[in-house]
Amino acid sequence: MNIILFGPPGAGKGTQAQYIVKNYNYFHLSTGDLLREETKKKTHLSKLIEKTIEGGNFVADDVVNKLLKKTISNLKFRDRIIFDGYPRNIQQVEYLTNLLGHFNQKINLIITLSVPREIIKKRIIGRITCSKCNLTLNQFFDKKQIQLHPCGEKYFTKRKDDNIETVMLRYDVYKKMTQPVLDYLSGNSNYKLIDGTLQIEEITKEIERLINV
Ligand code: AMP
Repeated sequence: MNIILFGPPGAGKGTQAQYIVKNYNYFHLSTGDLLREETKKKTHLSKLIEKTIEGGNFVADDVVNKLLKKTISNLKFRDRIIFDGYPRNIQQVEYLTNLLGHFNQKINLIITLSVPREIIKKRIIGRITCSKCNLTLNQFFDKKQIQLHPCGEKYFTKRKDDNIETVMLRYDVYKKMTQPVLDYLSGNSNYKLIDGTLQIEEITKEIERLINV
């Protein structure tokens, strides 16, 4: 079963995807992570990607689409991909549908985590990620967990685009560009909306229930 996780920045898509990967042997396809990897290459294109991400805008479709193909064409990940941050506009939905069709696959479950703008603000400003194991925590809400983290506190880093101006812009870009995708997909029977303000464990339970149907 292939799954798409939708939601504004800070909705908890990465956290939920990590749980599914660990417990259901899924492959986490985060285009944001793939693009951040690309920025380490120090080419002309990678500098352009970095600038676009820091500005809170979308990276060009052809760049993102290319990154996607590698995973979908790999039989190892067949029917167990969790998409996080892709598709983000109508063109990407069409590209994904065609690409999956080409490899005899489809999207089986579409989940949207809905979280209001004001809550996003609070969540993202404190967001830190361990550069060793990728665990994401909040520096205001998870103090104890950060102290006890097995990789050590020093590996936690903050994303450059997690500042208040860029986050609000990313939220607005999501509403403008990605909301039409959700409106388009919401008529499908495999489209499910989850309240993203619930506790992490409650959301996980709900997602598991949908996977196990
Ligand atoms: P994320 O990690 O999903 O929050 O993505 C971080 C940034 O990467 C976004 O704000 C965009 O600049 C870029 N990005 C990630 N996924 C996509 C996508 N599917 N299409 C265009 N840009 C993307």
